[in-house]
Amino acid sequence: MQRTDVNTLGEFGLIDHLTQGFTNRQPTTVLGVGDDAAIIDAGAEQIVVSTDMLVEGIHFDFAYTPLKHLGYKAVTVNLSDIAAMNARPEQITFSIALSNRFSVEALDELYAGVQAACKQYGVDLVGGDTTSSTKGLIISVTAIGRAPAGRITRRSGAKVGDLICITGNLGSAYLGLQLLEREKAVFKDNPDMQPEMGEYAAYLLQRQLRPEARTDMVDLFAKEGIVPTSMIDISDGLASELFHICKASGVGAVIEESGVPIHNDAQLQALEFNLDPITTALSGGEDYELLFTIDPKDTEKIRFLPDLYISGEIVAREDGIKLHTKGGNIHPIQAQGWKHFE
Ligand code: ADP
Ligand code: MG
Repeated sequence: MQRTDVNTLGEFGLIDHLTQGFTNRQPTTVLGVGDDAAIIDAGAEQIVVSTDMLVEGIHFDFAYTPLKHLGYKAVTVNLSDIAAMNARPEQITFSIALSNRFSVEALDELYAGVQAACKQYGVDLVGGDTTSSTKGLIISVTAIGRAPAGRITRRSGAKVGDLICITGNLGSAYLGLQLLEREKAVFKDNPDMQPEMGEYAAYLLQRQLRPEARTDMVDLFAKEGIVPTSMIDISDGLASELFHICKASGVGAVIEESGVPIHNDAQLQALEFNLDPITTALSGGEDYELLFTIDPKDTEKIRFLPDLYISGEIVAREDGIKLHTKGGNIHPIQAQGWKHFE
């Protein structure tokens, strides 16, 4: 018997390997594996469905994750995938596998966060599953959304000459995580120490522990009459998401360093950690902002919209994926974002 380590394939190689033998049989399956969400035909409109799993010790650490925030984040990371399809989320299911280490009171906290997110985004909790685990908490969330067929935005529609846009700002969630990890290490060495997160912590920790999904952008696009040509949510860092868009669309990209939005507090915190701020945007994860492309004829429509930045341009595939630095240099952007399976 041959035994192949899953790490030889990487996360995306593994997904391709496991799903390559499947062909869709239903005419209602418009798009299956490979985007932020699947697309299912439902008459005049289409339904989008996305699912994600969060595992204790891999995606969250109870040393610094409040249960309420965890419940909120588990929902928002899924709604982010629905927003990435330019659809509006409507329902979620929420499933948990837990050991007897968790009390009813603890689970109430978790669900208070789920409820806060449902209220914030106007979505309904319509089901889930509850089962036991030998150790640790596992959360699985499915989100369901809807949009008119002509508005749904895939990863695959970027064309040469399209503008590359980013919402909000990048790198903050990663820096928030670095702060939490630093203080966890300090606490381990000396449990009497009080955490000293520093002056940029308030914003950065909020971005890490309680991220928001950019469903507001879906509403803004509808209001302004814009349909992005491609879109993805930024969960694994700009570099990784840019690769997904370029691969799915068969194009290349040039990003202007000066066009990548980074919050002031992130700039200053990065310097304190001796990190280049652009690296935290390219390789840090969990910002849950949107990366999208628009036809240049829509430039005037988006130029003055709030919290939205033009960061680069789609180029021919042969020209690769590159960063034009503030110093005037051009660097290839390295593929990122495959997780190691332990
Ligand atoms: P995202 O980062 O947007 O959540 P992923 O990288 O997790 O997306 O997944 C990419 C695509 O692969 C999605 O279409 C997802 O539904 C699909 N996928 C991931 N894991 C599996 C699996 N084990 N079996 C089938 N499809 C999967
Ligand atoms: Mg996604």
